[in-house]
Amino acid sequence: MSQFWSKIVHSLTPYVPGEQPKMGNLIKLNTNENPYPPSPKALVVMQEATDESLRLYPDPNSDSLKQSIADYYHLESEQVFVGNGSDEVLAHTFQALLNHDKPLLFPDISYSFYPVYCGLYNINHKTVPLNARFEIDVNDYIQDNGGIIFPNPNAPTGIGLPLQSIEDLLQQNPSSVVVIDEAYIDFGGESAVALINEYPNLLVVQTISKSRSLAGLRVGFAMGHTDLIQGLVRVKDSFNSYPLDKLATLGASAAMNDKVYFTDTCARIINTRKKLTRQLEALGFDVLPSQANFVFSQHPKHCAEDLAKALRDNSIIVRHFKAPRIENFLRITIGTEEECTQLIQSLDSIISSQ
Ligand code: PMP
Repeated sequence: MSQFWSKIVHSLTPYVPGEQPKMGNLIKLNTNENPYPPSPKALVVMQEATDESLRLYPDPNSDSLKQSIADYYHLESEQVFVGNGSDEVLAHTFQALLNHDKPLLFPDISYSFYPVYCGLYNINHKTVPLNARFEIDVNDYIQDNGGIIFPNPNAPTGIGLPLQSIEDLLQQNPSSVVVIDEAYIDFGGESAVALINEYPNLLVVQTISKSRSLAGLRVGFAMGHTDLIQGLVRVKDSFNSYPLDKLATLGASAAMNDKVYFTDTCARIINTRKKLTRQLEALGFDVLPSQANFVFSQHPKHCAEDLAKALRDNSIIVRHFKAPRIENFLRITIGTEEECTQLIQSLDSIISSQ
């Protein structure tokens, strides 16, 4: 507490990101990073661009990156917005498009940054409970609202919705902005980008942090009707005109263009997820059906918090949320085959000794 803080700062409850430990030799399965390195082409482009030209400001609009994203999704570059991580893109979205008199709707169990943005921008919001199977039911969103946002697949459950359900939601809510946060879409989900040209109220947000192995670069993007994009640009240009540095713009663009590497690493993660799910089930865990690069899992006989602590003692970190309905779950990021084998061996010995 400080007398020097602006009034709003006193009321904030900031987001707490997963731990980024300083010590090495840990199996890090707690923040949904990709276990494989970024595309070699992205690394080369950034190394080659590290020269005296960094003296100059970058392109404020990251046009080359917008074009790569537009090409990948068969859109116009005017339908694309880029920012410093999808967290920044989401922050601008909350401020530019989701602050209305009626409440913004999002699931009770979802990305925990959403209520934080509502606090920062003073946005009226209401949470909608997931059903008993931890799924989003789009019929629960047929109610008065000033906007809707959720991740697809949802986090931390990993459960995805088919494109038809997103379309039903859009048809039921033609006068609200519907934001689909597709941070994990490339691990088996169906992107709603296919609906952008039909629904001017749809904004799809994605990131290169997960499926393109570049969480350290901080690049996210949004796609939608040019009116929505223009709203985001107005907020961005009232906040920071150069959110992406030159290296991030070039590296992200090269990663978007390297489809072969991207497809291969995503397929490896999906295969490891299937194998890990079977092995967890064999140890007695319930595993929610995941379309993401993590699984959400609970054991009927073992407390999740104790399991997370015991894994940590074995140098493996996973994520545990002390939140209603999900306190007995662990969220486990899909690592390499070897990392997941070590996780299973550790869990096996922890469970048999408890
Ligand atoms: N959306 C969801 C659902 C997430 O889990 C995350 C990662 N914490 C993000 C957005 C933000 O990702 P980034 O800022 O790295 O693009």
